[in-house]
Amino acid sequence: MASPSVEDYIKAIYKAQADSPNVTTHDLASRVTVSAPAVSKMLRRLTELCLIDHTPYHGVRLTEAGTKMALEIIRHHRLLELYLVEALGYTWDAVHQEAERLEHHISEEFEERIDALLGHPTTCPHGDPIPTREGHVAVLTGHALSTQRTPASLKIRRVRDTDADLLRYLKPLGLLPGATIEFLEQEPFGGAFVLRVGGQIVRVPPGAAAQIFVAENEPDEQPTLPLEESAP
Ligand SMILES: [Zn+2]
Ligand SMILES: [Zn+2]
Repeated sequence: MASPSVEDYIKAIYKAQADSPNVTTHDLASRVTVSAPAVSKMLRRLTELCLIDHTPYHGVRLTEAGTKMALEIIRHHRLLELYLVEALGYTWDAVHQEAERLEHHISEEFEERIDALLGHPTTCPHGDPIPTREGHVAVLTGHALSTQRTPASLKIRRVRDTDADLLRYLKPLGLLPGATIEFLEQEPFGGAFVLRVGGQIVRVPPGAAAQIFVAENEPDEQPTLPLEESAP
């Protein structure tokens, strides 16, 4: 595999920031799977390019220019994923890896064309929001199914796109973004999450439940979706 590019680092920092505001060199080294010295060297370069601010005790943060670059790559990635599924017949477990490669190479015109062809979509096949051309992106809502404690009707918002085995496992069970599911209970001693999906009972292991993000499928979800408040 080629060594991670500036764009790979910028994307990794963007994703790390979503999990914790203080991104460390160590954290990045594990995300881009290179040594800490290699990360330090790259961070100096990114600082010179004004893509990050790097302060010894507060870690790394993307500058405005860095954030813009990250959102642009993510827009490419998610549009490509959808294009591969919709236009080229790829299965949803195969597109993340393909998009990881292609995202660095498409032109703005190509991006515009697939965006138009797909009807200006707002999410990728895994439910992740596609940033707009202007660099706006929807705030991620929902919580991991593995943290659900009380029975509820839920809607699947998104699933992690990086584990192809997980995606192949979820598809035949109907556990796809947009699906309505009913959480019944977690089996004792950290056991499976028992769901009702389209009339069938499905038992999802905790490791998979941690990678499925859901939101309550009730009117009281409105506070997290201010933009949709006026459209019942
Ligand atoms: Zn992906
Ligand atoms: Zn995706």
